[in-house]
Amino acid sequence: MNASHHPSDDLLWTYAAGSLDEPSSILIATHLSLCPACRTVVAKAESLGGELFEDLDAAPVDAGSLDAVLARLDNTEEVGSVFVENRGHDEDGVTVPAPLKEYLPGSVPSLPWRWLGPGVRYTPVKVEAKGPKVGLLRIAPGTKVPMHGHSGNEMTMVLAGGFTDATGSYQRGDVEAADDGLVHQPVADPGEECLCLVVTEGELQPTGMIAKVLQPFFRF
Ligand SMILES: [Zn+2]
Repeated sequence: MNASHHPSDDLLWTYAAGSLDEPSSILIATHLSLCPACRTVVAKAESLGGELFEDLDAAPVDAGSLDAVLARLDNTEEVGSVFVENRGHDEDGVTVPAPLKEYLPGSVPSLPWRWLGPGVRYTPVKVEAKGPKVGLLRIAPGTKVPMHGHSGNEMTMVLAGGFTDATGSYQRGDVEAADDGLVHQPVADPGEECLCLVVTEGELQPTGMIAKVLQPFFRF
């Protein structure tokens, strides 16, 4: 099933230009491995970058050439995919796409899971570069994550199961981008544990009474 919630074109273009931080790039690459539509956007952005460099080497660029490049790209068929979904299953039945798998020291169940609150566990994904935090979140079926806001951008991508909040319903491959304006209470779908990849820039901010009591819960 194809994803129905995608990263913004801005993010995809920044990724294609190689300017995105490592934690966010892991999430985008993982999404791309599951999403042909976004692979097309990235492939177009990459070929546009290439065309521009070629133009710079050639004769002086006239005002119409960018339009010409864009028009040519619009006629380009989808470029063959570089990212192939890993269809093999871990022993626990979760398929971890290759770009993420490279960062994990073992299978999903074998990772050092930390208890964050009832039904919620977290494990950090180790990256070399400084930047946002990235990690995996496991939420038991039907669990309500306490209502919270954000002091920076947060991206969540579903790897297994699903969750729903006021902005919609998210399944495998879907990406939710939350900025500091969003206050939400995700609820894991019933029936299957929800496994998510989360990239967090700021601290999460609990808003409700219960959330304040559970504040340690948000200290990833
Ligand atoms: Zn997509």
